[in-house]
Amino acid sequence: MSGKDFESFREDTLNALGLKGLNSGIFDGKWKDTQGRDVYKSTSPVDGKHIADLTLAKREDFDTIVRNSRKIFEEWRDFTAPKRGEIIRSLGDLLVKRKKDLGALVTLEVGKTPSEGEGEIQEMIDVAYFASGLSRQLYGLTMGSERPYHRLYEQWVPLGPVGIISAFNFPAAVWSWNAMIAAVAGDTAIWKPSTKAALTATGVMKAVSEALDDLGAPQIFSLMVSRGNDGGEWISNEKGIPLVSFTGSTGTGTRLYEKVSARMGRSILELGGNNAAIVTEKSDMNVALKGVAFGALATAGQRCTSTRRVIVQDTIYDEFVDRLKKVYSGVKIGNPNDPGVLVGPLIDRKAIKTYLDAIETGKNQGGKVLYQGQDLKIQGLEGGNYVSPTIMEAKQEMPIIKVETFGPLLYVFKYHSFDEALKMHNDVPQGLSSAIFTTDLMEEEEFLSARGSDCGIANVNTSTAGAEIGGAFGGEKETGYGRESGTDSWKAYMRRQTVTKNFGKDVPLSQGVKFDV
Ligand code: NAD
Repeated sequence: MSGKDFESFREDTLNALGLKGLNSGIFDGKWKDTQGRDVYKSTSPVDGKHIADLTLAKREDFDTIVRNSRKIFEEWRDFTAPKRGEIIRSLGDLLVKRKKDLGALVTLEVGKTPSEGEGEIQEMIDVAYFASGLSRQLYGLTMGSERPYHRLYEQWVPLGPVGIISAFNFPAAVWSWNAMIAAVAGDTAIWKPSTKAALTATGVMKAVSEALDDLGAPQIFSLMVSRGNDGGEWISNEKGIPLVSFTGSTGTGTRLYEKVSARMGRSILELGGNNAAIVTEKSDMNVALKGVAFGALATAGQRCTSTRRVIVQDTIYDEFVDRLKKVYSGVKIGNPNDPGVLVGPLIDRKAIKTYLDAIETGKNQGGKVLYQGQDLKIQGLEGGNYVSPTIMEAKQEMPIIKVETFGPLLYVFKYHSFDEALKMHNDVPQGLSSAIFTTDLMEEEEFLSARGSDCGIANVNTSTAGAEIGGAFGGEKETGYGRESGTDSWKAYMRRQTVTKNFGKDVPLSQGVKFDV
């Protein structure tokens, strides 16, 4: 696709979603007008050109959003959970119709390939339908009471407005993991997206709010595009937001956690990963190569679950590395819309600098570059943010391998014993995703045992990246706290209440305590 064709793609995408020119980035039940506000200029990492403008929220906008969100919450919590589920199911139906357009917006603003961009909208659809089913299963447990004629059980009650702060790299899906589940739980949601992906958030909010209007449902979702620090701080310190779900880097997440905890709020923290794959001599090497290449290269290495380290048994190390280099050399990098392209741009110039600096640091610490990462200029897209991927032979004592570099930088390590591989695997501060490639049952089970992978996600013969929404998603150690999306993650969006009912004629006390009056 030439630069010119990409311009047509940009026009078509913006027109299809009604996002041309200046847009309001503030939705509090209705779109705030755009007069007299600071503006954020959104550019595409594909060609570096301007896409559209968005207004930025001020403190008073935030206060209005919180007030409205609380008011709508008081209405929404009275809807039965299955009714809430029905509305969220309809949002899923709407997203099926808008999948192509919204997927294209993700490509335009974040540079994902169309398959990955649309995949992200598919994830939203999947979560909507999952949440809809869940709306009939927000179950509590019933216990046998120690007191006669008593009933003891727990129930789950809506929490209130939930704050969702999202990262640039999953500009649509992460919101839905939280917002759809929160909605069936009876909560409202206030979204502060990354400014780097704020147009996608605006496109999603436009589509969803129109659908809610068509359904005659309350506007349970609000949006606040703001400068990262501003909006993030307002949400962190706001007592009216009992739960903040934060997705982003470990540094920012840690600071947010301190603030939210200080006001006794709750947080879900989905922070940085440093994910490894172990490849043993018992692996099917074709499967391992595909899994590692997808994990390291998809989204140009800008996934929280990207494979950043591969730990290979010494007996197959040379063959594996040679074959991986061949796979890398066949991967097409460039305009994500071009057929066959698998690796698009990094998000901005700063990301390129961080990536190239990490390669230099790695070399200075003793790493050996086996496949060189460089700044690339793609013809016709000179303003885009392209790099070629890197494979670096590394040693465990190199400090840089413990840091998440958000780009296609893969460290390879050699191991001799399986114990050594496990030790290397776990010897990083992060704990999000992990993988082993083996056909040996013993190795697989060791990896999944208590002394195996210490991550929130463990995969066997598949990539560290590419989670399904049905599983609970989240990490351990410096990756943060809490789970999103699947299984019983919904419990985080509700408050638990233990109920004791007496249907007798006396008031017997627990633990046999006597208090006769
Ligand atoms: P980031 O930390 O720069 O930004 C994340 C969000 O925090 C943005 O919305 C930003 O505007 C906001 N923010 C900025 N300052 C803030 C403050 N003071 N208080 C509160 N919020 C503030 O992260 P990014 O570059 O957008 O995303 C990449 C990072 O996100 C990587 O570390 C990646 O691993 C992580 N990530 C994690 C997951 C996961 O599920 N674990 C998923 C996606 C991304």
